[in-house]
Amino acid sequence: MLENKKGDYNMKAYIKREGCISCGFCETTCPNVFRMADDGLAEVYVDEVPSTDENSAIEAQENCPVAVINVE
Ligand code: SF4
Repeated sequence: MLENKKGDYNMKAYIKREGCISCGFCETTCPNVFRMADDGLAEVYVDEVPSTDENSAIEAQENCPVAVINVE
């Protein structure tokens, strides 16, 4: 992945929460971005994915069993 040399690269993460099956994978894989909310579904709780968490956020996207995570 290309890095913005100015350090202002801002990847964002989204979850289509209505499709989440509460498996917990995303929280386990990338806990700085995803967490399980009080309603039992995963949520994104940061505005932007920290640069050090980009790879794990992508891993969560690629391995979510119902493919409801999008990072871009
Ligand atoms: S990996 Fe997907 S299905 Fe599992 S908790 Fe996260 S968003 Fe929900």
